Amino acid sequence: MIDHECTYPEVEIEEADEDNNLKAGMKVLIPCRECGANPLENMELLAMYLKESQKAVLQLEPERLLFHWSPVARRKQINRYGLRPGMRVTTTSYGKKTPYVCFADSPSWAWALSGRMPWAPSGEWDLWQTYLNLIEEPVVLPAEDRPSGIYEVRTESRVYKSKLWLVGSRTK
Ligand SMILES: [Zn+2]
Repeated sequence: MIDHECTYPEVEIEEADEDNNLKAGMKVLIPCRECGANPLENMELLAMYLKESQKAVLQLEPERLLFHWSPVARRKQINRYGLRPGMRVTTTSYGKKTPYVCFADSPSWAWALSGRMPWAPSGEWDLWQTYLNLIEEPVVLPAEDRPSGIYEVRTESRVYKSKLWLVGSRTK
């Protein structure tokens, strides 16, 4: 069993190797000094775990409810085009575009991640609902400290209006 947190120190290559794969000045991660674990294998392993846990969530609860808040001013656009990745997002402080659409598994948690943010605009907000199995290529971000174990669900694909249901509105 692993009783430590693996670390992968970064080192600079001083001399090129024979095949010239590693050139002088390149920075590489070296295996964990405690146990010899390989950083690349570790990343692949983590990616595999994430994929597996996503599959598990999808199989366990394909019809898990998901929620997304959006200013009422967007309602027309959403009715027409759905929720699109890269729409100007209200959930970053800089008005930066994000290449995905995100959902949370409860209205209040979705609100905490969007409308409640200090930089999110005041006014009327719509709550949209969908189901996990209606989302294309969902990425489930885990959160140990949430009862559901889910922080949020992201997708880089558009979520069409036919897969969304307008629950209601609230005022910020
Ligand atoms: Zn280790």
